[in-house]
Amino acid sequence: MKLVTIIGARPQFIKAAALSRAIKTHNRDSSLQKVEEIIIHSGQHHDPNMSDIFFSSLEIPLPDYTLGIHNLSHGAMTGQMLEKIEQILLHEAPDVVLVYGDTNTTLAGALAAAKLHIPVAHVEAGLRSFNRAMPEEINRILTDHIAQWLFCPTQVAVKNLQAEGVDQRAGVEIIHNGDVMLDTMRYFINKASRITLDRRKGSVDGYIVCTLHRAELTDDLERLRDVFTSIVSIAKEHPVFFPLHPRTRKALDKAGCTFDHPGLEIMEPVGYLEMIDLLHHAGLVITDSGGLQKEAFFSGTPCLTIREETEWTELVEAGFNRLAGYAPESIVAGAKAMATVTVDNSSFIYGDGTASQSIIATLLRRIH
Ligand code: UDP
Repeated sequence: MKLVTIIGARPQFIKAAALSRAIKTHNRDSSLQKVEEIIIHSGQHHDPNMSDIFFSSLEIPLPDYTLGIHNLSHGAMTGQMLEKIEQILLHEAPDVVLVYGDTNTTLAGALAAAKLHIPVAHVEAGLRSFNRAMPEEINRILTDHIAQWLFCPTQVAVKNLQAEGVDQRAGVEIIHNGDVMLDTMRYFINKASRITLDRRKGSVDGYIVCTLHRAELTDDLERLRDVFTSIVSIAKEHPVFFPLHPRTRKALDKAGCTFDHPGLEIMEPVGYLEMIDLLHHAGLVITDSGGLQKEAFFSGTPCLTIREETEWTELVEAGFNRLAGYAPESIVAGAKAMATVTVDNSSFIYGDGTASQSIIATLLRRIH
């Protein structure tokens, strides 16, 4: 089976790492049919600490094709990717194209493949925020509606797809097999704790990890200023480690925010191994990231989400995550309340850490 993996953004590297590992493990068994993986990196994230570090530390094979497409408007970026990916797919003629999550890379990859009648497998299918102002929501809806195999991380995702009638299309299969990010975290957690003790030195348990990067925030400077002011105020009580996404750094500069405040440590984006160690020892996560909401749960750490809605509603229902919105008083009060929450992560709402193996096994059964 020949499979083309299309990735380009940080969260996709973490998800694709699980699949590449599952393929490697599968290929070690000489009695089984081999899987050939070709990797296309669109270039959507290209800084060394947003891209290269994930390939090396997560042991992802180097991309076979690197497109170098970044820093463009949504239309220009998606259009250029579509054109270049189409040429590669024509040349490689894979049995299946694998796309992840909800970025412009996801949509461009799925669209290029579907137009060439190459089956698309969407990993992390079925997620919905029900907020169509989010570029990610448009990307996921369109990808789900042209994919053939929809691999869902949660039961909620399955229901979302059924509600849209996705399962009524001939040949389409919705498969609930758990979250591949859990696979990656399970595999790397032991390596993580060894490399990052320095970062936590001097900080008692009870520190906060904060990340912010969504367009809803970075495109609205007044909102961003309010949220940042809340973080500055929270940092007076508990140390806050804040690895800054390049887009957020630019927006904070534009908003006139300064970075020198008591208890606040602004950092460059950290590598995945460092991030999961930080999460495991934190008292609270404050974020607008989709991935971090789940990784906080996997780490047994409560989460305050700086958004008005989330795709991971099961965590909010369980009381392990709270939606704070953007108002400073709600963020400060939310941080105080969530810091005392104990997270029981013993349930299997995101599977058992073997989602990637099950995806490869399913594709092999369906394709040959
Ligand atoms: N992440 C990281 N270093 C950072 C910030 C995030 O390794 O400085 C990882 C994090 O563990 C998570 C992923 O990047 O798995 C999430 O990416 P991001 O928040 O950019 O995207 P989203 O999950 O919202 O799509």
